[in-house]
Amino acid sequence: GGEAILDEMREKLSPRGDLVSPRGRELTKAVFGKPLTPIEVVETICRDVQREGTEALLRYTRSLDQAELTAESLRVPAADLQSAHDAADPKLIESIRRIRDNIVTFQTAILHRDVTIEPKPGVRLTQRYVPMHRVGICVPGGAAAYPSTVLMTAVPAQVAGVKQIAVVAPPTPFGAYNQDMLATCHELGITEVYRCGGAQAVAAMAYGCDALPAVDKIVGPGNLFVALAKKHVFGTVDIDSFAGPSEVIVIADETASPAFVAADLLAQAEHSPGSAILITWDEKLIESVQVELQSQLEKLQRSDLTRDALADFGALILVRDAEHACQLTDSFAPEHLHIETADPESQIARIHNSGAAFLGHHTPVALGDYAAGPSHVLPTGGTCRWAAGLSANSFLRSGSITRFESEATAAIAEDVIRLAEKEGLTAHANSVSIRQAKPNQAE
Ligand code: NAD
Repeated sequence: GGEAILDEMREKLSPRGDLVSPRGRELTKAVFGKPLTPIEVVETICRDVQREGTEALLRYTRSLDQAELTAESLRVPAADLQSAHDAADPKLIESIRRIRDNIVTFQTAILHRDVTIEPKPGVRLTQRYVPMHRVGICVPGGAAAYPSTVLMTAVPAQVAGVKQIAVVAPPTPFGAYNQDMLATCHELGITEVYRCGGAQAVAAMAYGCDALPAVDKIVGPGNLFVALAKKHVFGTVDIDSFAGPSEVIVIADETASPAFVAADLLAQAEHSPGSAILITWDEKLIESVQVELQSQLEKLQRSDLTRDALADFGALILVRDAEHACQLTDSFAPEHLHIETADPESQIARIHNSGAAFLGHHTPVALGDYAAGPSHVLPTGGTCRWAAGLSANSFLRSGSITRFESEATAAIAEDVIRLAEKEGLTAHANSVSIRQAKPNQAE
């Protein structure tokens, strides 16, 4: 049944630090002289960058990315950002501006605001939110370029009030040499872009080095090496999440268009790997979606990769009814959920676990990937049971502020002293009782 299929899928999708592709194995052997797992590779790189700083960062950029850079050329010059922007398709710049406005509107609306209460006379309690000072953003550069990643990470940070944003991207045509990505950075006012990627860039941002000052939080997607490195440096800095392959569950009924549903499954599989699962109680829909998948696949640019991803990580699941679909979806806890039924509102009310949900026949996930307003950096692998997607609030830290006037301290003193004495912390008790004995001092 559907439960077993989803369990198997969850197992396949969980990011594994011990898996090595044949190409990765060759590269590891060439760089480190012996076979290492990705976890061992990442630990070695992080340790070296922490100890040796810029020198190790440049050495790994040379050996892993074949880029000969210096401490100066590591950073993209301001003139290159400007010229990428000047040469960019004006229509692209217009789109970027409109998308930025959408993101700003949503992220500003959901931003935490300070809360102050005065629960009793002479007591004032505040929860205050302040932006992080400096954050680092990973932009991937292996198989495709991602101006959208810059928008979906940097704009929420800017809305939160973060002043310093450093972007790292591998020194590749899809990464730090991608003109659209550089133009996007310039449009958003980002001036710090570095030509480095992988674990070495994450380590440099966490520990800091001459060429790349340390940040407080590292966000953004990446391959397994980036994800493992973020996990490794967590604690020295904050991170957004430990992200695995992207996933969608589409719940659809007889009112759904098979062509739309197939297009939505293919869009997710195109991430390759990307997991695309249809759950429906309409047997006929499964057949018609299969036909549509075949015909649409042939017309796609990345059809081979998408077909492979669908074969490995795709499923069409027939369930008893809407209730069964909701139960299965809730236990799988998908990163993306798209409900293409007659009454999506009633289904979303029954599903608590989804990173981002898209409702209705005319709300493809791609709207959220690119332009709607919520960030597309989302919890994968079932982690949305306890984690949230990136938002402006991810770049705030909160702290409390407490103020008691003397009479309010007197009113609470007995309880504080009793607990402190029970714990044997008499200095704690004394710091309160001394104020009872001398209430008018330090006025
Ligand atoms: P990447 O840019 O994240 O990482 C490339 C770096 O990995 C290289 O610079 C290199 O330093 C390092 N590396 C590669 N092989 C290595 C090895 N064998 N040993 C040590 N280091 C090695 O890579 P990418 O290929 O572009 O992958 C990006 C991933 O991010 C994709 O899976 C993509 O689907 C995903 N992504 C997710 C989102 C999202 O928001 N969910 C958005 C964009 C991209």
